[in-house]
Amino acid sequence: MLAMVFVYGLVVGSFLNVCIFRIPEGISVVSPPSACSNCGHRLHFRDMIPVVNYIATKGRCRYCNASYSVQYPVIEFLNAVLYLMIALNYGWSFYAVVYCILVSFLLTVSLIDIKYMIIPDVLNVAIAVIGIAVILHDSIFIWDKLIGIAVVFVFFSLLAFLTSAMGGGDIKLMTALGMIFGVKGIIFITVFSFIIGALVSAVLIAFKVKSMKDKIPFGPFICMAALLYIFYGTEIIESYIRLFVY
Ligand SMILES: [Zn+2]
Repeated sequence: MLAMVFVYGLVVGSFLNVCIFRIPEGISVVSPPSACSNCGHRLHFRDMIPVVNYIATKGRCRYCNASYSVQYPVIEFLNAVLYLMIALNYGWSFYAVVYCILVSFLLTVSLIDIKYMIIPDVLNVAIAVIGIAVILHDSIFIWDKLIGIAVVFVFFSLLAFLTSAMGGGDIKLMTALGMIFGVKGIIFITVFSFIIGALVSAVLIAFKVKSMKDKIPFGPFICMAALLYIFYGTEIIESYIRLFVY
């Protein structure tokens, strides 16, 4: 069962690579079929076997020998590992399915934001649709979700207004996540997106990958904070509360 989840994660990861390259360019993610970006040769089924093909061909096109980005196998592998972690944490449940779909969108959002400094609306809308499904599923928590959305929307709009660190895409992403995670979750994600953002930016600047003047996309930090909440949110919040209770 877990092996099947992993393989499924690899296959979806392979499709995410297509999305990461095509959505920002405004090209359909289903047609034309995948081809080598260098020689244009149509890829056959065996050329698209996730990770395995990359290793077998040493990351080169079988037809023209052009080298492929290591991003392809990394995204496939990462997506599969995340699916596996979700299956282990949540079993076979509504939330396992929701989180699998969500993490794939979060991976896509992160990569596109890193490459193009934008979060396409279509992805935020898709995450909001997941949010609506969650709200319909847990309709007793509807006020929790609605307050979550309101809190985050006001907070981030103010922040965007006062500073220029936050883009419209980030605010939309946080709002969509508020629909999924409710008040507690979205406060957690907000706090940790800033903590992770500060740590990662400090490391990038220390290693001179980025300078103080560079704009660093914020979307990936939001996504990482959401992943942290999915896997360790309850534990982190509980140990934080315990600090004050005992
Ligand atoms: Zn080629």
